[in-house]
Amino acid sequence: MLKVALGNTNLNVSQVGIGVLPMGPGQLALPVDEGADIICHAVRQGINFIDTAQYYRTYPYIRRALEILSLDGGERTHGAPDGLVICSKSLAHDYDNMTAAIEQALTELARPFMDIFLMHEVRTGGFEERKGAWQALIDAREAGLVKAIGVSTHHVDVTEQMASVPECDVVFSLINYASMGIRRGSDPGTCEEMLEAIRACRNAGKGVFTMKVFGGGNLTENYRKALDYVFSKEEIQSVMIGFGRKTEVDDVINYLSGVMPADYNPDISHKKIRISQDDCEGCGSCIKVCASKAIFYNKNGLAQIDQSRCLTCGYCSYACPVRAIIRY
Ligand code: SF4
Ligand code: SF4
Repeated sequence: MLKVALGNTNLNVSQVGIGVLPMGPGQLALPVDEGADIICHAVRQGINFIDTAQYYRTYPYIRRALEILSLDGGERTHGAPDGLVICSKSLAHDYDNMTAAIEQALTELARPFMDIFLMHEVRTGGFEERKGAWQALIDAREAGLVKAIGVSTHHVDVTEQMASVPECDVVFSLINYASMGIRRGSDPGTCEEMLEAIRACRNAGKGVFTMKVFGGGNLTENYRKALDYVFSKEEIQSVMIGFGRKTEVDDVINYLSGVMPADYNPDISHKKIRISQDDCEGCGSCIKVCASKAIFYNKNGLAQIDQSRCLTCGYCSYACPVRAIIRY
């Protein structure tokens, strides 16, 4: 698999990364060995870049995969100590909580350092509000506990901002051809705007990788179109894709190898829609658009889906301002 030097860091990453979110408790809640098996499957096919987060509670999958890979008799992967590049991130707002998040990752993953650690989901104005957390990242890099630091964001304006932050090494931004989930301040943003911001980061020497190529699962029906979009943009250095099944890894490998039929679309008959109770703000927009009347307010005042009524059309996800509705 093609590897690229991520910005001005010394990290070489595969053009696709393994997003572990889908296997974790927030979505599929796979047994640890099953999730680790998916990670190992991807690594054995040349993918060396892994994305996780404190919030995802998925460190056990990665740790188990690292144990299995170190036991592999045959081809052992790359260098430091195994050539994998692991990125994690935290929603922490202050210095102490960010420091604790880094320590937690090092302990739970049993790594001597984190390759990349980010401020997770930085929104408009958030970089300033979370300056204590940012200082913790700078200090951790200085101490050798983290190799590269940066932010993850859905926001065009935050991506733009990072181009002129000298301490920022990498930016992890949201982009897909349908502009699903892209924000600009309190408004929706477009993929063209995000690409322009990513270009500014690249011109400033930042490493850039991206998320949500399939819009949280809602663009999977246009599988090739979604992948064609991100892989045709030279500004995008690597694309994180969430994997919950080995066949999903195989699909991406087939695509990159050029052996995927032009009309291929994955079987998504197993997909369901759910609403993240952590992210829903109870605004009710999804309830208004659901023609099947499959969404109701639960006792917490948050939206919930009645699976027996849901047609998995995905229309509700377009209406949600905070991307709380996900397909899994
Ligand atoms: S996917 Fe379609 S049917 Fe299901 S809850 Fe959303 S809008 Fe309703
Ligand atoms: S649109 Fe999103 S935030 Fe609003 S109630 Fe539905 S799931 Fe919750």
